[in-house]
Amino acid sequence: MIKAVNIHKSFGELEVLKGVDLTVAKGEIVSIVGPSGAGKTTLLQILGTLDKPNAGEVLVNGVDFSKLNEKELAAFRNRHIGFIFQFHQLLPEFTALENVMIPALIARKDNKKTAQKAKELLAYLQLADRMEHKPSELSGGEKQRVAVARALINDPSLILADEPSGSLDSKNKDELHKLLFELRDKFGLTVVIVTHDKDLAALSDRVIEMKDGLVLLTAI
Ligand code: ADP
Repeated sequence: MIKAVNIHKSFGELEVLKGVDLTVAKGEIVSIVGPSGAGKTTLLQILGTLDKPNAGEVLVNGVDFSKLNEKELAAFRNRHIGFIFQFHQLLPEFTALENVMIPALIARKDNKKTAQKAKELLAYLQLADRMEHKPSELSGGEKQRVAVARALINDPSLILADEPSGSLDSKNKDELHKLLFELRDKFGLTVVIVTHDKDLAALSDRVIEMKDGLVLLTAI
């Protein structure tokens, strides 16, 4: 699903990734752990086409990102990759339903079918009675589940999650952890998670430890 070879990334003088290799199989749930500043988020952004490496190769689903122009990258991202962030990043002026629909509408999918699918996803995530609420009217756990529904609307094959449980209390954390595994089993998704959360990392199929821009250790 993912093959990253010898990824280098610098911001000015700061060398953040110093030759990272990473392979993730289809259907695998992999956690990336390590101290703050290790380069975890930067790597996730590169895997998600949100940033570009200075050197190295990234292939997702066999597609070499270096061969795609900006427009093609955006289309690939929208179609194949779902993102979950720590602070959900829902648009405050839109309802839960509208937030979930946005990536599909960007991909120019049919409005009616998209609305139907978004409703199904929200119902599956126990948000049937919250669809018309705006983010400010939702609890932290609900907001994060709306973000999960949004990540799923275009049937991605890969979910990239950056500290997905970082802003949740322990009950909502446990629910989110269960949900990520359920999604893998239900939709056959591959999931890469950047996390400080030891419980979440321990549940993964594989834990990758990063330090100072390098992968230190891969533990099963
Ligand atoms: P982690 O996720 O492991 O905490 P990050 O990938 O967020 O690490 O950051 C690694 C280093 O790169 C940090 O020192 C951070 O300040 C720096 N960094 C990240 N993004 C940028 C950017 N867009 N511009 C400049 N420096 C950045």
